[in-house]
Amino acid sequence: MIPYGRQSISENDIQAVVEALRSDFLTTGPLVEKFENELEVLSGAPTISVSSGTAALHCAYFAIGLQPGDEVITPPITFLATQSTAALMGAKIVFADVSPDTANIDPIAVEKAVSAKTKAIVAVDYAGHPAEMSELRLIADRHNLYLIEDAAHSIGSTYNSRPVGALADLTTFSFFPTKNLTTAEGGAVSSPNPKLLERARLFSRQGLIRDPMNFLVKGEGPWHQEVHNFGLNYRLPDVLCALGISQLSRIQDFKVKRREIFFRYTQKLSKIPGLELPIERDNVVSNWHLFPIKVPSERRLEIFNALRNQGINVQVNYLPAYRHPVFEDYRIVPTDFPMTEDFYSREISLPIFPELTEHDQDRVIKTLRELFP
Ligand SMILES: *Cc1c(COP(=O)(O)O)cnc(C)c1O
Repeated sequence: MIPYGRQSISENDIQAVVEALRSDFLTTGPLVEKFENELEVLSGAPTISVSSGTAALHCAYFAIGLQPGDEVITPPITFLATQSTAALMGAKIVFADVSPDTANIDPIAVEKAVSAKTKAIVAVDYAGHPAEMSELRLIADRHNLYLIEDAAHSIGSTYNSRPVGALADLTTFSFFPTKNLTTAEGGAVSSPNPKLLERARLFSRQGLIRDPMNFLVKGEGPWHQEVHNFGLNYRLPDVLCALGISQLSRIQDFKVKRREIFFRYTQKLSKIPGLELPIERDNVVSNWHLFPIKVPSERRLEIFNALRNQGINVQVNYLPAYRHPVFEDYRIVPTDFPMTEDFYSREISLPIFPELTEHDQDRVIKTLRELFP
């Protein structure tokens, strides 16, 4: 079986984890700060590590002070964590349709979705391709909104030569095994805004304040720490930061490999009538997490099953978020999101990951070609 995504674990990765296990710290030791500092070099903004991409989103929504009744504008083509964390805080989820070429949130649809209650625009870098951050920034500034980037797919990508992580008020990453970099479970939040990042950091660490300069309770001893806002335990342990540091040393190699596969598929699958391939906009260099093709909707199930029957474990990313029964009360009308519906009805994600061999790529290519005689 060829999976659609898979981690790449080297002997050095294993060694790094073993060393961490033999050290004095299993969690919150020196490797946490080291990993965060190295992430900052990649993301272009100060960064905190957390225990998952979902936790990262929760921290970002806490950092902006998301309140019950606030609205957040999100794209439907995403993993539900983009919405679930905001909804659990009492926010109302507002959907904006996607652009047909990238499946990223469409700035024109965002502009139309803004209301007096809007608190934030949340972009998702679908498949690794950064969203239209310049246009979204203009809209956010015009309406005094926060701009959050769910970059679970796109660590290592750039937009106008700037790294994903330095583009939004808060950017969230996931280090789940299928993503572009892994710590088994893990995530991170980057922000160029020190106040927002500090709020995210405190939230992820039980809200515990340790700096005496910030104490409201005076006259306690050296043991003292205090909480001003409730937080959670979203810490990423040293053992997993060890894996993250080791993985980070290979992120550029991963990107080269993913891009090689992207261009090889693009070259060998182009000009097949009825088959549409993902594109990369001119101002973007994408660290491709997915390779989403579009096939005729009436043939999607047949093509999906044919690929699976050949041992090619394709996926569909994603069911439009508003179609999950949890949104039943919203009474969303799918035809209000024609680009999302069209994309979902035709999408199949082909295997793409650093260790996918040319032989296996050729199996995918050959199987697909035979499906389009
Ligand atoms: C994977 C993913 C998440 C959640 O990340 P976890 O690390 O699995 O919690 C959030 N958003 C998107 C778009 C994702 O793909």
